[in-house]
Amino acid sequence: MSENNTPNRTPFPAASLLGYPRIGRRRELKKAVEAFWAGKIDAAALDAAAKDIQLTIANRLQELGLTEPAAVPGTFSYYDQVLDTTAHLGAVPARFGKLINAEGQLDLDGYFTLARGTKDQQPLEMTKWFDTNYHYLVPEIGPETEFTPASTAKVDEFAFALANGIETRPYIVGPVTYLLLSKASDGAPAGFAPLSRLEDILPVYVQLLEKLAAAGASWVQLDEPALVVDQDTPAGEIEAAVARAYEVLTSAANRPQILVSTPYGSLDGQLGTLAATNIDALHIDVFKGSVPSAAALAGLGSKTLVAGVVDGHNIWRNDLAASAAKLDALKAAAGKVAVSTSTSTQHVPHDVAEETQLSEQLRSWLAFSDQKAVEVKTLASYLADPASARAAIDEATAVIASRATAEGVRRPDVRARTEALTAADFTRSAYEVREAAQEEALHLPPLPTTTIGSFPQTSEIRSARARNNKGDLTDGQYEKLMKDEIRRVVELQEELGYDVLVHGEPERNDMVQYFAENLEGFDVTVHGWVQSYGSRCTRPSILWGDVTRSAPITVEWAKYAQSLTSKPMKGMLTGPVTILAWSFVRDDQPLAETANQVGLALRDEIADLEAAGIKVIQVDEPALRELLPLRKADHADYLKWSVDSFRLATAGAADATQIHTHLCYSEFGVIIDAIDGLDADVTSIEAARSRMEVVHDLESHGFGRGVGPGVYDIHSPRVPGEAEVTELLATAVKHVPSRQLWVNPDCGLKTRGYAETEDSLRNLVKATQAVRAGL
Ligand code: GLN
Ligand code: ZN
Repeated sequence: MSENNTPNRTPFPAASLLGYPRIGRRRELKKAVEAFWAGKIDAAALDAAAKDIQLTIANRLQELGLTEPAAVPGTFSYYDQVLDTTAHLGAVPARFGKLINAEGQLDLDGYFTLARGTKDQQPLEMTKWFDTNYHYLVPEIGPETEFTPASTAKVDEFAFALANGIETRPYIVGPVTYLLLSKASDGAPAGFAPLSRLEDILPVYVQLLEKLAAAGASWVQLDEPALVVDQDTPAGEIEAAVARAYEVLTSAANRPQILVSTPYGSLDGQLGTLAATNIDALHIDVFKGSVPSAAALAGLGSKTLVAGVVDGHNIWRNDLAASAAKLDALKAAAGKVAVSTSTSTQHVPHDVAEETQLSEQLRSWLAFSDQKAVEVKTLASYLADPASARAAIDEATAVIASRATAEGVRRPDVRARTEALTAADFTRSAYEVREAAQEEALHLPPLPTTTIGSFPQTSEIRSARARNNKGDLTDGQYEKLMKDEIRRVVELQEELGYDVLVHGEPERNDMVQYFAENLEGFDVTVHGWVQSYGSRCTRPSILWGDVTRSAPITVEWAKYAQSLTSKPMKGMLTGPVTILAWSFVRDDQPLAETANQVGLALRDEIADLEAAGIKVIQVDEPALRELLPLRKADHADYLKWSVDSFRLATAGAADATQIHTHLCYSEFGVIIDAIDGLDADVTSIEAARSRMEVVHDLESHGFGRGVGPGVYDIHSPRVPGEAEVTELLATAVKHVPSRQLWVNPDCGLKTRGYAETEDSLRNLVKATQAVRAGL
């Protein structure tokens, strides 16, 4: 194996993080960026805020013991790491016109334009980053895309930290992953594969490496998580791309040493491909992924193996003894081993110590980013001198053992119920029987109209909740305000002429957290924000124990809403898979078991809703697609338990009770069998942005129950005209029998304002009437 060209031989840090949250402990970046967008601060003030965040993070990680050169990850981003890479490559889609300025740079305004769009250009599409709840901006690459170094952000960030005494490790998405995550641009010919542009982006990567080396970087991190996913591109083509990319990058005249990181799962066959290149260090995920064979590891030669043994994606305290055993195995087979996290810790909050409202016991079970830094450090010291880590390892072992027997973690009442389940608990009557019973109970017109659940969450609603939380508003006063809101929402739907009504969900802070706050087995955090996309953050709940429902949750609200109208009122619940997907879920039992516990709690809620006179109940599963495993071999098992948990939640319903579900994404081809398997009476799905493409999938699949492809894209304030909706419905009627078809928006309306919502909802009804008249 040839030596690399770099003179800088600083060893890879024994302890490092793969990445770190960049939004700030108090969401400082969110606040600064949003103030900049609103014109309240200028670019200089935003830059100052960003620098402050970068330096605070670097200092904090040093304080926690990550003091070696290149141990602090340079993972700051104003919006998204994939967008950062797009900026570095100058890969601006032609549809945005000339965003690159006279100096050849994509400035901050141009950068945010790609993220947020303009009056007449949609922003870059957003999609899920691997199996996480983080969303990246999808690059658009075609034969016409020109690649030029259009950003110096990574170099500037590195130089800034260095000037402050800290050598960071710049991070950028690697060339193969970048192209595999890209989609073909609008103008690209059919069958065009972005990966075919590999040769053209490599010189720009080389220039970046040279600039980083000149700035003094001893290491750079190129992130290649696409290599742990089963891609549609044949493995051989990917192998060739990896070999070629790293042949070119490692031949740069002057470059930092290269770490290739592969988070989110096992590298499997691509380990050998990377081992055969001249990169200097390879990170593998040995938390979610498996420990490779000794033979595979031996192929690494003199490269440093960076072992991702501490979970970056979930919040549980590391089982240090188990990690130490993995490190022993790795060290026996590979030459140099360093310790890190399995993924960037951008998926978990900053610091458990902030959550003083949680019990000390629960806190002792958790590790957020800062605790993970300490765990990594401990494991690195174990590698150097096992005795030095003895006490910490024993403590972790003791805490994990005490967690297993702590009150609420395993409840006999809950266990007895899940163990007694039989196939009958997952099955409703035949659809024909249910359909007849529901027709009799509901008397709905053809093409029934409905909405997805939430109505605009006005600032009055949010401020009432905040005042109630602070104690400035009594529970009674708060309840009265919410009921007034429900009345307004019901009256509006009556006036607009909707057939199946909703109460508008004003009382819910979030569709998952609301249930977490009302079920046993969960806790919620105060500062536990994680970035979802751009400046948007979510605060996942912690599902730590056996889940059960101690009292009805939604029943009083639903009953009140139903009392205001003679039309059917939909009860509104969040499904088990979505509750799991958007929480931090216990890691001490299979997800399937936890999902069934949540399913049973929802089943009880559905029984109570029925008893209260609710005839239509919607169980939302917008996250069903999101948890789909990255390896195809794991799909069947996942789809089985996820679908089962939904069926368990809903199968207790009477034949006459109409069960709805809602899914908000359109590319569901791969999971259409699973969606059918949910056996919901009515399924509403996102479709407006893809101009009803989904109806073709439904038609070819022979989807036989009610279906509402969304005809109003609620993700922007734009009002769809009556003619436009009529046309979408006309398309739908051609492919889906009209007796199955429902009319509804794409998703809930909580992020919309009332002005556009009323107009849009009115147009939906008018269009429906027009199409009904022609049936
Ligand atoms: N019922 C929820 C709402 O309307 C569904 C939201 C979602 O699908 N994300 O807000
Ligand atoms: Zn939705």
